[in-house]
This record gives sequence, structure tokens and C-alpha cells, in this order.
Amino acid sequence: MQFITCKFGGSSLADASCIRNAVSIIKSNTSRRYIVPSAPGKRHGEDKKITDLLYAWHGMARQGLDASEPRNIIEERFGSLAHELGVTFDIRACLDEIAQCAGRDKTPDYMASRGEYLNGRLLAEVLEAVFVDPAECILFKENGKLDPDTYERLGARLTGPGYFVIPGFYGALPDGTIQTFSRGGSDVTGAIVARASKSCLYENWTDVSGFCMADPRIVADAKRIEEVTYRELRELSYMGATVLHDEAIFPVQEPGIPIQILNTRDPKNPGTMIVQKRTATSPVCGIAGRGGFSMFNIEKTLMNKEHGFGRKLLSIFEEMGVSWEHMPSGIDTVSVIVHDNELGNKGPVIMEQIERQLSPNELSLTSGLAIIATVGQGMNHHIGVAARLTGAMAQTGINLRVIDQGSSEMNIIIGVEDRDLEKAVRAIYQAFIDWK
Ligand code: ASP
Repeated sequence: MQFITCKFGGSSLADASCIRNAVSIIKSNTSRRYIVPSAPGKRHGEDKKITDLLYAWHGMARQGLDASEPRNIIEERFGSLAHELGVTFDIRACLDEIAQCAGRDKTPDYMASRGEYLNGRLLAEVLEAVFVDPAECILFKENGKLDPDTYERLGARLTGPGYFVIPGFYGALPDGTIQTFSRGGSDVTGAIVARASKSCLYENWTDVSGFCMADPRIVADAKRIEEVTYRELRELSYMGATVLHDEAIFPVQEPGIPIQILNTRDPKNPGTMIVQKRTATSPVCGIAGRGGFSMFNIEKTLMNKEHGFGRKLLSIFEEMGVSWEHMPSGIDTVSVIVHDNELGNKGPVIMEQIERQLSPNELSLTSGLAIIATVGQGMNHHIGVAARLTGAMAQTGINLRVIDQGSSEMNIIIGVEDRDLEKAVRAIYQAFIDWK
């Protein structure tokens, strides 16, 4: 019999009634066995996430400030969870131990991981499950990357009957120091557990019923995506579709374990299935976009004949520690698109270096660009996709600043003014919604 790994997000474990609901979901299918919890999330709009409070606690303690406020809220939240769920393990002793370590480390990782740790201990007791501490079996190398031995080491801990609870978000470096994944990283833990346990399915339980074809804040009635491939999702989440951490695909992609995005508030809804190959043949499966990009525009006569021009240009970005996103080019022109968060205040220095090292005829830096990806493996060899997309832009009166299609023919990238982002996403959605 093959088993299922279930990851529950913070909003699905925010209070005792959410936890009881998660427990009843787990128990309603006997194949569900490996459980990965996040830390308790927000119970309502104005509430605080436990992980945010832990980061605040660390930051304040590190600066020698009185951190009793975040600490008291955390104690209160976990205290009432333990009380309402009738849990007996000594949560106060755990919190005292955490308080002793507050501000001890340079990085906040140990503190941040305690939300998942404590929630994992609670859930393990409620489920009468084996508690597996990722500090002992999810291993990072010195360089911070996941050690591939993790799968075997963790797999060996996941044998035997009953439930296993493995807290999300963290593991340990070779010297035992706790390290977390980036924010939202319990999704990655879930994928690692699914692979290590050779699960047949990775269920990712959250508070939405899967992915929509476009951001529902932009297209209110956007259709649910029933099936999406790992590669399509990678492109969509990279471009801003935020339901799943964008690194959660890698552990399960190779063994081909499907991920199902499900909603704890509507558990019968099949959500979205992320698979190796999808059965639906529609050319476009989703549209995602985000604003806040800048574009370096470089023009130089006979650029195409100058050996090493591209290498020199990109090495300037490398030396400045700035990673670029897209590089559309013409015959004597090339542009480099960078997100503003990445660029920071390095724009003028990069311009200076381009000027000095490449002596372009024209050089400019424009900001306020939005990038939109229209994604679908079905567009490969499907005639008319770009025509439909650009037609939609023309009809809506949106100026296309950039258009770029990679050789995979799976993604058409366009660049528009930031202020046109939402209008453009709506127009593309309308153009492809019913196109087979
Ligand atoms: N609790 C962590 C965060 O808020 C990890 C997670 O929930 O996936 O980012």
C-alpha cells in the first residue's frame, strides 16, 4: 500500500478548531500518514502569524530590547491551543528553553523554526503520532543547500505503523545549527517528506481550492486550474502565483509524485493537481504577472559582430551581485530586465560600468515595467497563440514594451507599463479562457 503525505499551512492550523478539522481530514482517508505542519497562522485579518512574532522576538532580543510583547502573545497562543486540545506535554518548559536562546544566534533561523516545532509536538500528541524532528534528518550542506542524503536518512525514520508528524520549514547544518528554508518553506519540507517516504501523493492543504488561471484579485471569477504540469507551475509561481513555494516542486518532480492543492474549508473540492504530464490539451493554462521591474537598454552599432559583448555585459551584473530576469535583444540592441528588489540602488553604478566597459551609442534605464507570463505546454507548435495575445493587447489599447518567447515554447513573456498590469492580465485571460 502506498501512503499520502499531507502538509497543512498556517491558516489551516491557526486555532484549535482548525486543528481538529485537519485531524478529521487526516483520519478520513487511511492512506494519509505523513503529516507536515506549518506554524499557526492568522486567525483573522488583523491577527499575527506565529512565525512573524518569532522573528520579531529574535530581532528585539538581539538588540537588547524588551521582547516580552511577542513572547507573551506566543505563549498565550500556544498555551490556549494546548489547553483546548487537552495536550499534556510541557509547552511552558519548551517556551522557557526558547526564551533562553532568544537573540543568541546571528541568524533568526532557530527562533523562527520553533513555531513549526511546537505545532508539530501538539499535533503529534493529538494524533498519537511519532514525532520526527527535522533537525535530525533534514540536512543542509555547509553551503546551505539541501544534502541529498536527507532522503535516505529521513526515509529510514518514516517506517513502521501509525502517523508521523514532521514539522515543516527547517532542518540542520552539519554542525547541528538549525537552518530554515525561505518563507513559506513548509511546502518544501512536505515535498521532501513525500519523496523520502515514497508517497504516492503529496497533498498540500491550504485555504484556497487550488490555483486559478489568473490571480483572483485581478480576475474575480477566474477559473480553477484542474491540472498543471510541474514545469508550467514553476513558470507561474516564479512569476507571482503564490499558492505554493516555488522550490517545492523539485523534490517530487524527479520521482513524479503528484501534488494536489486542497482547501481545508472545502475538502471535497478536488483543487489543482500538479503532474508530470497533463491530459487537458488547452494551449494556455495560466497567466501570472508582477510589477516593479526596470530595464537597461543598450544600443551599439555592429553589436552583433563584437565577440564577448554579451559576456561582458552580464558579468557587470554578476560582479554587482544582481541577478537578471530577461534579456530581449535586437540586431544592435539588447535589454536587461531586473526586478527592483534585486536592483536596489545599484542602477547608477551598473550604468556607469556599462558606459565604461562597453561604450554603447545609447544607454538608458527605464523603470515602472510589469512582466506578464502566459504559460502553457500546449502552446508548443500551436499556431496563433502569440497572435491572440498581441491582438488582445491591441484591442485593449495596451502598448507592448517587450515580447519574448523562450525556445521551450511554453511561456510568452510580455512587458507593459506597471499601470497596465491588471488590465493586461484581464485581457489575456478573456482571450484564452475558452480557447481549446
Ligand atoms: N511558518 C513559515 C512562514 O510563515 C513557513 C511556512 O508556513 O511554510 O513562512
